[in-house]
Amino acid sequence: MLYDVIIVGSGPAGLTAAIYTSRAGLKTLVVAGTVWGGQLMITNEVENFSGFENGILGPELMEKMRKQAERFGAELIFENATSADLKSKPFTVTAGNKTYEGKSVIIATGASAKWLGLESETRLRGRGVSVCATCDAPFFRNKKVVVVGGGDTAMEEALFLSKVVGEIKVIHRRDKLRACNFLQEKASANPKITFVWNSTVQKILGKDRVEGVRLRNVVSGEESVLPCDAVFVAVGHKPNTDIFKDQIDLDQTGYIVARDGTRTNIEGVFVAGDVADNRYRQAIAAAGSGCKAALDAEKYLIGT
Ligand code: FAD
Ligand code: NAP
Repeated sequence: MLYDVIIVGSGPAGLTAAIYTSRAGLKTLVVAGTVWGGQLMITNEVENFSGFENGILGPELMEKMRKQAERFGAELIFENATSADLKSKPFTVTAGNKTYEGKSVIIATGASAKWLGLESETRLRGRGVSVCATCDAPFFRNKKVVVVGGGDTAMEEALFLSKVVGEIKVIHRRDKLRACNFLQEKASANPKITFVWNSTVQKILGKDRVEGVRLRNVVSGEESVLPCDAVFVAVGHKPNTDIFKDQIDLDQTGYIVARDGTRTNIEGVFVAGDVADNRYRQAIAAAGSGCKAALDAEKYLIGT
């Protein structure tokens, strides 16, 4: 089956692109991934997506985008793209042992949570170590937990956890947060949240479940043990570019290089959202770039 547009990824960027391309009458396939919907599926309240004056739950927003794309005829498959051949035309994308052909491709594979890279973290994943408070907070009702990181995600995780757990310590490697002022102030005002500054996690302690963390103060070099029942890692995200990296130009940090808006180094292959955005990384920005990629793809197809 030859599609006009194959969109890889189903976060705000991919689904917005799908709304535009399918509404324009282009035969559109969204390779949505086995876990569709992107990063907003693991958050709670989204308060800064315009149009929802009282906020909207992340999964609800994504459900609405998906229905809107399907309404115009976009076809979604819930498989991960495992390879892509972008060197010859039509382009091909393989997902779930099937290969799909496309006259154009929009890469909207977003970003995934980073881990600390500790052996103890891998061993205790799912046993108290998590990157998703929305998913795992209920397991730690009234318990002591730590959140690692100082960005918006860390603050949101801490704030969400404060509704359920007993006590949260945010471990940050510096003495200043990266998070926006609004979230900083909200977290600082929350009586359940306190901060451990200038500290890194050396080891997560426990055999079969988390029992604590060994911390190192990066200024004094002192080590200490902080007992806790769970560790929520919130140290940023890395772009999902593995299947494209030998064909598409990436910058030094692995993000796709977008030229002149949403174009990549391959004519007919466009990019949208966090996978090419190391700067803004917001849902509304991802959706906006999905719109631009769709319009660029449409223009490209008219010219072919
Ligand atoms: P993503 O949302 O990352 O979606 C990419 C999708 O592509 C995923 O579903 C993934 O599974 C899929 N995919 C990846 N590889 C493949 C493959 N090989 N084949 C098929 N599919 C693939 N922003 C805000 O504006 N407001 C907020 O309140 C907010 N809260 C956030 C809370 C948290 C906890 C996090 C982590 C982020 C938050 N953000 C927020 C940021 C926002 O979620 C992102 O900027 C936005 O989701 C990026 O959209 P995207 O479509 O580019 O990528
Ligand atoms: P981020 O902004 O990159 O912040 C990552 C944090 O983790 C930083 O504080 C960083 O420390 C720390 N860190 C990184 N690697 C570490 C390591 N190995 N050990 C210890 N700490 C480490 O990532 P994010 O918070 O996930 O946010 C990603 C994007 O999504 C941002 O653009 C953000 O604005 C957006 N977002 C928005 C909202 C919202 O609008 N409500 C919510 C969530 C996310 P340093 O500060 O020292 O670098």
